[in-house]
Amino acid sequence: MAETGKRRISILGSTGSIGVNTLDVVSQLGGRDAFDVVAITGNANVTLLAEQAIACGAALAVTADDAHYDALKSALSGTGIEVAAGRAALIEAGARPSDLVMAAIVGTAGLAPTLAAAERGADIALANKECLVSAGELFVRAVAEGGGRLIPVDSEHSAIFQSLEDDQHHAVERIVLTASGGPFRTWSREEMAGVTAEVARAHPNWSMGLKISIGSASMFNKALEIIEAKHLFNIRPDQIEVIVHPQSIIHSMVGYQDGSVIAQLGSPDMRTAIGYALTYPERPKLNVERLDFAKLARLDFEAPDEVRFPALRLARTALERGGAQGAIMNAAEEMAFHAFCAGRIGFLTMADVVEDVMDAMMGHAATTMDAVFAADAEARRVADEIIDKREMAA
Ligand code: NDP
Repeated sequence: MAETGKRRISILGSTGSIGVNTLDVVSQLGGRDAFDVVAITGNANVTLLAEQAIACGAALAVTADDAHYDALKSALSGTGIEVAAGRAALIEAGARPSDLVMAAIVGTAGLAPTLAAAERGADIALANKECLVSAGELFVRAVAEGGGRLIPVDSEHSAIFQSLEDDQHHAVERIVLTASGGPFRTWSREEMAGVTAEVARAHPNWSMGLKISIGSASMFNKALEIIEAKHLFNIRPDQIEVIVHPQSIIHSMVGYQDGSVIAQLGSPDMRTAIGYALTYPERPKLNVERLDFAKLARLDFEAPDEVRFPALRLARTALERGGAQGAIMNAAEEMAFHAFCAGRIGFLTMADVVEDVMDAMMGHAATTMDAVFAADAEARRVADEIIDKREMAA
């Protein structure tokens, strides 16, 4: 806590969907009267980053891309806000003393800066699931050794975190991750084969960044969440169930050995989970839509279809194989996502690419962060080759 009594916060990925919602929550919770914003970071959206820095009074604004340094510098000239760019500056943003870091960069790019924050003992509000998918136990250990808390932001994991009773971990039988099923929940594989990124990004319930929206359509997001849940809650993979729940009202549940199931419900609005992570264990008043049960009328559930959505099976394979398979799966999925968005491969080919890369890279260990970063880099190289071949064959 700062001498002023305010909470010192840094927001990695402030220009994204989670970042913008985080700044909204910060403002709802008192803005500058309640928080000192130590650092905010973005990548390409320099205009928004500069606007945010001025509005929230950030001490430091960082763009991940050196090419945007001059634009950011000139947008913030005369404000007294420190400006920096590049990978090292991003890590510095995580490493600067603050009480809490919102980790909301998309992809593996978020791992090193979030790790820097964890190692110095900041509380981590974790939206960037890739930290856990890629670095799993190493990341959890870094947080524990640093002495901070790891508070999930992903709505499903926040729901589980909220439904887990203190000291009753031994009584947990299963956790049930809910999935909306995305825009293609009822589509056949033939129908999905030809979709574009524009169509795939249209999520029925949530408004989110591009990567997670496409990941919701392919269910790769849920696949990453299975691995995230395993590491966050230190639970066996066979205790993690996925259930499709199209209304996205139940955000996830915990089943106990006495047959009870405790769930967390709410409108599909990330600000509830963000507010909880920012103020845990408090529940501050937030201006989000309240559930109207009479209007809801019904909640539906159906089993996920792992034939139409093979991503779920791949997550379980990655957990069974262990080692660096999480990092490999995550890196391959990022590459496949970019290739799909660029129109190089089809929607269904994303899963084929990921499976091929995972199979090609069996036996890689993940005993150190260097090994994780090496597996990530190698998986990207292998994925690139596979995507090239698949593109030429199409
Ligand atoms: P967005 O794509 O909306 O935002 C991503 C953020 O990361 C932006 O600030 C972006 O900067 C920045 N960024 C992009 N590339 C890089 C890079 N190479 N280096 C550093 N920063 C970069 O993503 P979301 O907010 O949707 O998601 C962020 C994370 O939160 C993801 O891990 C996602 O899975 C997770 N999450 C998101 C949810 C949601 O509702 N959106 C829900 C649950 C989890 P810029 O925009 O300036 O280019």
